[in-house]
Parts: sequence; C-alpha cells; structure tokens
Amino acid sequence: MADILWTAQEAALATDGTPFGDWECTGISIDSRNIEKGDLFIALKGPSFDGHKFVRNALKAGAAAAIVSQVPNDCREDENLLLVKDTTKALEDLGYVARSRSDAKIVAVTGSVGKTGVKEALASVLSKQGKTHATLGNLNNHFGLPLTLARMARDCDFAVLELGMNHAGELSVLSEMAEPDVAVITTIAPAHLENFKSIADIADAKCEIFTGLKKGGCAVINADNEFHSRMMQSSIKHGAGNIYSFGQDHGDFTVIKAEKNQNGSGTHIKADLHGKLIDYTIAHDGTHWVSNSLAVLASVCALDGDIEKAAHDLAHLTQLKGRGAVHNVDLSGGSIRIIDESYNANDASMRAALDVLSHQEGRRIAVLGDMLELGPDEIAIHHGLIDACENIDLVFTCGPLMKHLHDALAQNKRGAHATSADHLAPLVLQAVQPGDVISIKSSRGSRTDLVLDALLDLQ
Ligand code: ATP
Ligand code: MG
Repeated sequence: MADILWTAQEAALATDGTPFGDWECTGISIDSRNIEKGDLFIALKGPSFDGHKFVRNALKAGAAAAIVSQVPNDCREDENLLLVKDTTKALEDLGYVARSRSDAKIVAVTGSVGKTGVKEALASVLSKQGKTHATLGNLNNHFGLPLTLARMARDCDFAVLELGMNHAGELSVLSEMAEPDVAVITTIAPAHLENFKSIADIADAKCEIFTGLKKGGCAVINADNEFHSRMMQSSIKHGAGNIYSFGQDHGDFTVIKAEKNQNGSGTHIKADLHGKLIDYTIAHDGTHWVSNSLAVLASVCALDGDIEKAAHDLAHLTQLKGRGAVHNVDLSGGSIRIIDESYNANDASMRAALDVLSHQEGRRIAVLGDMLELGPDEIAIHHGLIDACENIDLVFTCGPLMKHLHDALAQNKRGAHATSADHLAPLVLQAVQPGDVISIKSSRGSRTDLVLDALLDLQ
C-alpha cells in the first residue's frame, strides 16, 4: 500500500486553501502527462503555461484531486479540488509543512558538478540503512525542491535532496526550505558563469546552502577545492556544529590508495574515513568519482550511519545514463566501448571525462560538443581543453565553440569537425573500428546524444 501523503484537510491547512471533496493522495504531480493513480495534481501557472487547462485530464487519468487557483470551466461540481490563492505558493507551502512535520534526517547536496551522482549514490546506500526519500532525477530548483519535499512520506528516516542554482540568492531560499541536517558541496568550478562575475562569486552562491543548515548541523566540503576555507568560514558563520572535509590527499575523509580495478572498469579505493581505514570498490572510473564517494561516506558518517556498510554497498551502484554509463557494441571483428557522458558538461566535468578516457585501453576517441552558459571566457575554456586531450588519439568536435579546440589540435589528432551533432554522427561512424573507446560529452543543448544513438544503432 502506498503511503498517504496528504488528506484534503491537511493540504488545506498547509496552504490556507478551501477543500472540495474528502480525499487523500499518495503522490504529487505538476505534469498532467505523468499522472499516477492517487496523485494530487497541482495546476501551476506561468507566463507561457497554465496547468488549469489540464486539470480535467489529470483527474480523468486517476489524480485523487487537484490544487487550483480558479475552478476550471470543464470541471464537474463534485470534483475533488483544493482552491488556493496561488498554486505555486501552495506547492511551496506543502514543501515547508512536509519538512516541518518530518523527523527524517535531511541531506542537501549542491556543487558545480556531481550533485545528481552524489545524491543517487548517497540515497542508494542510505536506503539499505533506513527508509530513504530522494530528489527524482534533476528536480533541484524552486519547483523541484518543494515538490520533492511534498512527496516525502512522513515516516522517512532519511531524505537526500539535490539543490541547484543559476543565480545568487536562489540556494538560500532552497536551503531554508530544506533545513538540512547535513549540507554537502561536491565541488566549485566554472558553470553558469554567464550569471556570475567570477568563480569566487559562484563559491559564495554555493555557500548559501549553509543558510538553512540546522543549528549544529554538519557541513561536508571538498578539501581539494580552492575555495575550501571560504566554504569552511561560511558554514561556521551559519552555525555548523561539525565540518567534514573530503579530499584526495588531505581532509577528514581521504584516499590512501586508489587504483583502477584489475578486471576492467571501476576503482578500488583504500581510504582513511575519519580515522577508520576502509577498503571499498566503486563501479565508476576517474578521480572525480573517488572524490564523490568520499563525499557520500562523509555524509553517512555525519548522519551517524554505518559507514562500513555504506562503503561496501557502493560497489553495487551503476553509472547513470549520460553521466558515465558504458555501452559495449559488437561490430564484425570485435567491439567498441562507448562512455556516455552526453547528459551535460562544463569545464570540470569535461576534463574529468577526458581524464577517464585517457586511462582506457584501446584507441581513445573523444566526441565533444559545445559547453554552454560559460560566459565571456567560453572561447578560452574550449580552446584550453587542448592539454586535457594530450592522451586522446582522435578528437571529433561539433559546434562553433568546439571549433576553437578543433583548430588548436595537432593534425594527427583531428577527427573531424561539424557544425552540429547530427552532421558529426556519420563522420564518427565512418571512423570507428573494433577496439576503440569512445567518450561522448557536451552540454545537453549540443545534442551529442545523437552521436551516441547512431553508434548504438551499429549493433
Ligand atoms: P546539473 O547541474 O546538470 O544538475 P549535476 O551537478 O547534478 O549537474 P551530475 O549530473 O551528477 O552533476 O554530473 C554531471 C557530469 O559531471 C557527469 O558527466 C559526471 O560524470 C561529472 N562529474 C560528476 N562528479 C564530478 C566531480 N566531482 N568533478 C567533475 N566532474 C564530475
Ligand atoms: Mg543534477
């Protein structure tokens, strides 16, 4: 039986609304196309959309009730509704009340890269230690966070929440809503630079995650990051009772030895986890994932969880789609290995992906598309990838920004350049041979997933 999340009376009290009908819901949805039976549908309204148009559809699809700011004309009189002044505010109200009525220990995760990866890994290991709720996918903004909180069952032991931002000021609002017991910053790197003057400004905006930290809560921060002391100061200023740092060579959670697994992909790690020496394995490649795993284990420790069990359970995780998932495709005469990093990219994650590729066996091929939203330094950042391509054999590029990298590459490394990913795909297909390892990476908008699809179709 699914948990009952809200009754009509509880939702009305939380939102200061007027209920019609006596109902209870087992889920929440803001998209009428993805209604599950028993959901409460919230009809959000924005400049270019109005969920009120879809209330009828949502109810027909099995929604238990809908939150509306006016009763749609096509609704019947006996329909289950909750009438509020403003539906976006009602969603936030549900988020706040869900948070305050819950005894779950809450972890909020932010950072320039690795939020979803760390969130998924942490939620997975915690789910073996208690009832765990987590952000679905990438729902990390001012809609996603209240939605995630409103969906949290009342008897959860843990919740792992991804918090994202594009502008200064956004994270403090989210953090105050989440009121985390533990606040994690994976790393700080150039991303969304369009909206910031400098990386230091990004660091300050990320530190807003400490604004809502519970008094005496724990900050989990990256000891390798140049803004480490800034993060520490900020967490102290906001009343952190404990600070755990993680890093490759230093920090409370640190690596003694990390090496690639003998049998192909994955990494074996010997670490000093706050004084406990523990060996564990992760399915991921690359130093960035060693670092992410330390962030996960530091968070488990901050929650007083079983850190040895969590370290052991990390071995069962798989790489996420678009964020390192590996595909082997059989061709006549052998197979190719594809590392799918097509979900998103900024300078830090691009370099991490190229580093992983640099350590693979076989001819190393990078298929790279433009990184977007990098601001005035975008050309220099693309051009600057030249050093990260040192151990790559062939580099295919697409998009106007990657053209700068293409032009800088030595002739023997230049695969081909195309204006867009769909034009690049046939050129990559022509070039691949059995034994190749191909890493595909770009911002989502650059659509290098089209190259991935074309390669998978070779099977
Ligand atoms: P978004 O801002 O889109 O929500 P995110 O912060 O959730 O991104 P992920 O989706 O977890 O980040 O990962 C994005 C990319 O960054 C992936 O390609 C992943 O392999 C890479 N990545 C993950 N962790 C790190 C890290 N610590 N350092 C550098 N790159 C990383
Ligand atoms: Mg994410």
